[in-house]
Amino acid sequence: MGVALLTGLSLLSNTNLQEREILKELSSSIDMEDLLKLDTIEQFGVREIINVTAKKNDSLYTILKKIKVEDQNILKLINSTNSKLLSKIQVGNRFEISLDDNNAITNLKYIKDYKSGVEATLQDDSYNIEAYELPLEKVNIYKKVLIKDSMYSAGLKAGIPDSVIMDIVYIYGWDIDFIHDIRPGDSYSLIYEEVLVEGQKEVDGNVLIAEFFNQGKLHTAIRYDLEPGRSEYFSPEGNNVKKAFLRSPVKFSYISSKYNLKRKHPILHTIRSHNGVDYAAMRGSPIRTTGDGTVSFAGVKNGCGNEIEIKHSEDYSTRYCHLERYSSRAKSGRKVKQGQTIGYVGSSGLATGPHLHYEFHVNGKHTDPLTVKFPDALPINSNNREDYTTHANKLISSLKNYQGLTESLVLND
Ligand SMILES: [Zn+2]
Repeated sequence: MGVALLTGLSLLSNTNLQEREILKELSSSIDMEDLLKLDTIEQFGVREIINVTAKKNDSLYTILKKIKVEDQNILKLINSTNSKLLSKIQVGNRFEISLDDNNAITNLKYIKDYKSGVEATLQDDSYNIEAYELPLEKVNIYKKVLIKDSMYSAGLKAGIPDSVIMDIVYIYGWDIDFIHDIRPGDSYSLIYEEVLVEGQKEVDGNVLIAEFFNQGKLHTAIRYDLEPGRSEYFSPEGNNVKKAFLRSPVKFSYISSKYNLKRKHPILHTIRSHNGVDYAAMRGSPIRTTGDGTVSFAGVKNGCGNEIEIKHSEDYSTRYCHLERYSSRAKSGRKVKQGQTIGYVGSSGLATGPHLHYEFHVNGKHTDPLTVKFPDALPINSNNREDYTTHANKLISSLKNYQGLTESLVLND
């Protein structure tokens, strides 16, 4: 270990300041233990191409030292233009390193993910270092599934990847209860993307369009990019398939007390209406805002304890009580998005144990959050309407084509 470090240090003194800076960055996380484990190198042997996965505390320097690349060679790499591209290494990133007979690097690929990375190629006395992006190819896959028992197992049987079935569950989860609502004879068909890199399937992409027949009712969902990185699903008419509210503000919980206008209060022992729903959950469980909105209150209020109120629109607001603590988002006046954590379950105020008391107000009146009919999330706005209609019609006719093709195949069978 001492030798390796000393060599590194003496080399440092021969390099100029800029090189030192780069070397410092590249070797900033040398772990003594890693250097002590030098004898594990032997397993790499003298193979020409070595594959290494970056572990905790690895830097390019430690990785190259482990495979016995000489310091002079490492410096040549570091002194090459663009070597900074090789400095921010993350755990799990892969390296493909080609070595010649003298164990010198002829080519080094820093593979960030299936589609991008950095490549260094030896050219005379330095390395040509460049970031690369592999071209992605997307192909559309069509599937039709007839459900006998569960939509999930039927989907798997039809060869639909697990992640795509889960997307279907998410898309329709607002309208269809996949445990109680499914009947034999229900069916769904969809077009989803597969992403290929150099002819190999790398990822199961997005569901572009899906049709679900549930108890004779057709539900169509079409994916539309509202802005780069933000897509939602809409009906052919442009209505959002999502609701403006999640049914439950705590994921892993059970309802310990329902909305009840004549309940005996567990602490006060008097008849007081229970104006919300109680969700019993582990202390510290995250509480999510059930809809987009603005925090209108975050503070302490009598029996409610640590409380948050969110105003969603002129008509709708929600209230969350007995919090253990607030999330950093829970500041009065701050905008929040549906599903974001606003606080954590506790028992502050008048509470017998850790639970969330949740209220749903419509036009200022208490409403049962379990039975209230939620409004849809925002539809396609007028600016996007024309573009959406063209996009939707294209996908609908594409789906119809596939459906027609497979039906004629079945007839000829
Ligand atoms: Zn309550």
